[in-house]
Formats: sequence, structure tokens, C-alpha cells
Amino acid sequence: MQQAADQKLPGFGTNIFTVMSQLSADHGAINLAQGFPDYDGPQALRDLVSEHMQRGHNQYAPLAGVPALREQVAQKVKRLYGRAANPDTEITITPGATEALFCALSAVVHRGDEVVVLDPSYDCYVPGILLNGGIPRRVPLNHSDFSVDWQRVEDALSPRSRVLMLNTPHNPAGSCFSAADVDALRAILERFPRLLVISDEVYEHMVFDGQPHRSLLGDPLVAERSFVISSFGKTYHITGWRIGYCVAPPSLMAAFRQVHQFINFSTNAPLSYAIADYMAAHPEFADQLGLFYQRKRDLFCSLLEDSKFRFTPTAGTYFQLADYSELSDLPDTEFCRQLTMDHGVAAIPVSVFSEAPIDARVVRFCFAKEDQTLREAVSLLARL
Ligand code: GLN
Repeated sequence: MQQAADQKLPGFGTNIFTVMSQLSADHGAINLAQGFPDYDGPQALRDLVSEHMQRGHNQYAPLAGVPALREQVAQKVKRLYGRAANPDTEITITPGATEALFCALSAVVHRGDEVVVLDPSYDCYVPGILLNGGIPRRVPLNHSDFSVDWQRVEDALSPRSRVLMLNTPHNPAGSCFSAADVDALRAILERFPRLLVISDEVYEHMVFDGQPHRSLLGDPLVAERSFVISSFGKTYHITGWRIGYCVAPPSLMAAFRQVHQFINFSTNAPLSYAIADYMAAHPEFADQLGLFYQRKRDLFCSLLEDSKFRFTPTAGTYFQLADYSELSDLPDTEFCRQLTMDHGVAAIPVSVFSEAPIDARVVRFCFAKEDQTLREAVSLLARL
């Protein structure tokens, strides 16, 4: 075991997704904890990977990523958000959104810079800030609906603030930005000229009930100050492929690539060619994802009505929060252990995403599962 003194992240254990997936496997539970589908990406996409491997696309991709895939990202961003991003200077393909988030932080955060994150916040944000010498300033989202309290954000900002990290649709809460959120952000950027934004939009295609995804790429002034990050893993049911991308204006992207070239140099070539071909042939796939997951959300929620869990159907992502206060007084970490070990369903405790202690008795379920898996899981949950 490494001594604590050698660690650059003292106090951080193994991340919650690894812990809960392991516990779930050890106890043969149904894993609704770590966010990944229990179905594969499209057959045609998987075939394209072998095809490109056989055709000799097995050497380094260019630093910025395979041009055909950057071109597809540019077309998508233009079609959905109206932004003309230059694939040569404003788009980089990355080994997952996780690497992109780290590179964006590393590109612009200097020692002592402050970075505002909104709690609950996805697990890699704060470690990424600390590893780059930044100082996290954690601001809670509104308790009632996990919307952003822009006044609190503004109160946390100072001339030392370098980055504001945002996430819409939000993991774990499922809340999504409205047009008013983007307006509030634009006003803040005008008042803080040194501030940049890292916008984690990996669930961009999973927004429900007819609402649009409010990408920061859709606002020209905000986009000029933002790194916008997404993940092919989420969109094409291929989280294990580890592939995503970042869009940013040329000066920010130059700084991003400076870091990216020394962390991973470039991203898996055959996967990139395959995704590029698939996107060109099936632009509709991403557009249909919202309805695909809305149907799964509705099924999961209708089944969950028969349990003692209480919930508001999630507005986006493939996660559903559920209050278990009618079932137990245990803290959520303990409740999740018990749920996994004694009742056969793994979930994620929500308190781990916040710095401040959380009173609420809430867990997160992933509903990116076959209908049959969801039925089996909820039949176990309904027995509690
Ligand atoms: N993003 C996934 C989740 O929220 C997990 C990814 C991971 O395990 N690093 O569950």
C-alpha cells in the first residue's frame, strides 16, 4: 500500500462506481449503480470497428483525432446547436469525457486559481482541480429541484476564479438547464472577464418531455469562453470504448491540445473511423436517444410506484433519484450497501457527490437496462 504522504489525493478512496460495481458483483446483485447499459451499441457500429481494423486503420490517429470524426462532430454541433466549430482548430477527439475534463482543467488552471463546482458534482471534477493546483469552491445546487442558484454562484466568484464547471443534464440529479440558466451564465461571464467554463454535456441526447438540451454551444458569447465536452460512450451505448470529444474556441483548444498530446497523445483510431462512418450513415440515432430513454424512465418509474421509494421523474440523463426515507433511517452509503448485499439491487449513494453533509435519504438508480432487468430489479425493490 502506498503511504498517505506519497499520495497526491489524500482522503480520496476508490471511486464510488468501482466500489459499488464490485460489491454488486460479489453479491450477485442487479447493478443499477454504475452508469452503463446492459445492452450493446448498434451491430453496424461494432461491425465497422472490425472493418476498419482489417482495412489497416491501426496506427496513431492525428493528435486532434481522426479528421472524419471531427467533421461529423462539427456537422452535429452545427445542426443541433447552430455553432460552426472548425474541426481543425476547435474540436478534439479524446479517450472519453473523463480525459477531456482533466485536459480542460489542466490547460487553464494555474496553481492557486479557484474553480467553482456545483454540488452534487460528478466525481472526477474536484480531484481534477486539486491535481492541477486549483482550489475548489463548492456551491450547492438548490435542494428542491437541483437547479442552479446563480446568486450563490456569483457570490462564490472572485477575481481569483478561473473556471466554473457545469453539467447539464446533471449527474446524479437529472436536472437540465433552461434558457434562463444560459442567460444568467452569460451575465456572469460579462461581469467576470477572466472566468472560463467547462461544460460537461455527456447526456446531451437524454433530455425528456419535449425539452431541448440547452448546450452552451448554442449561445455564441458563452461558447467563446467554454470547453464543451461530450461522450460517444453515452450516446452509442459503448461506455467501455472510452471515447468522447471537446469543442472550444481556437485559443482554448490550442491550450487543451498542448496538454492532451502529453497525456494520451491521440485517441483510438479504428473506433474513431467506425463512429465517423456510423454518424454519417445514421445521424438520426442520437436524435432518437431521448425518446428511447424517456420510455425506459417511464417504465422504471411506473414499476417503482409499487414500492416505498418516492421520486420525481428525472428530466434528463439515464439516472433516477429515489427517496428511501419511508424504508430506512440509515445514511445512504449504508443503505446502498444493505440494498446490494441483502436485497440484490445495487444503487449509488448521492451524498458522496457533495462536500456538505446531506440529510436527505436519496439514492441514484441507473435505468439504462433491458426492460427485463428493470422489472426484476424493481420486483426486488418493491419487497422492501
Ligand atoms: N459516469 C458513470 C456513472 O455516473 C460512471 C463512470 C465511471 O465509473 N467512471 O455512474
